[in-house]
Amino acid sequence: MSRKTVEILGVNIDSMTFAKTVDVAKDLIKTDGVSKIFTPNPEIIMCAKDDETLKEILNSADICTADGIGVVYASKILKKPVPERVAGFDLVCALLEHLAETKDGVFLFGAKPGVADMAKAKMEEKYPGINIVGTENGYFAPGDEEKIVEKINGSGAKLLLVCLGAPKQEKWIAKYQDSLKVNLAMGVGGTLDVFAGVAKRAPEVFVKLNLEWAYRILKNPSRYGRFAALPKFVIEVLKNKQHGGNK
Ligand code: UDP
Repeated sequence: MSRKTVEILGVNIDSMTFAKTVDVAKDLIKTDGVSKIFTPNPEIIMCAKDDETLKEILNSADICTADGIGVVYASKILKKPVPERVAGFDLVCALLEHLAETKDGVFLFGAKPGVADMAKAKMEEKYPGINIVGTENGYFAPGDEEKIVEKINGSGAKLLLVCLGAPKQEKWIAKYQDSLKVNLAMGVGGTLDVFAGVAKRAPEVFVKLNLEWAYRILKNPSRYGRFAALPKFVIEVLKNKQHGGNK
């Protein structure tokens, strides 16, 4: 697959519409061998700037979506605008809708104990026919990881949603890529929390106005520090552009 990407601070972000991203992801689910989708936001891209391993992991993905308006904005600054934002949560919803038809198995991995099971119940309600073949919470001892891989493989899942937060989920997927038997592993942060109702997605109006970030701060002021990283990210992208490269 030839990819059109924009390099933002050394991380290659795919320049694809939401619909095209869904199509490519559907193909990956059908194809043997572990493919990876990551959904980097400005915070993760800033982390990758100082963490070469994380940068390599992100750049080894089959798709890195522009998750977050900050990433879309950065692509505009670099004069290689991505067509639109592709949020991890929306991508997961579109794929679950598809998998409710194909009946391919899905494994939910991550979040606090009980949350993945609640998310499973909500998904089964929202996507009748969906085949959630296993769940596992995201608070495990390092010694349990092999067992978790065995459980995932034993479930026969084709799609694995890894929700351990960034960059833990990206590093976990990269570490076990060769042992996993799923076809597609996605690092999708707080997705299970949103499904379970533990965290709420912003109302439509905030999403439309690209103010989802503002809603999150209002609901959870302790996240403010994370969003304060956004101006720093924009400044860094501008600085890099001036220096003629965007590494
Ligand atoms: N989490 C987890 N294991 C950990 C740390 C975090 O399963 O060791 C979960 C946490 O419970 C939450 C998700 O990872 O469900 C992170 O959500 P967040 O919205 O913070 O994702 P991010 O914005 O970091 O991608």
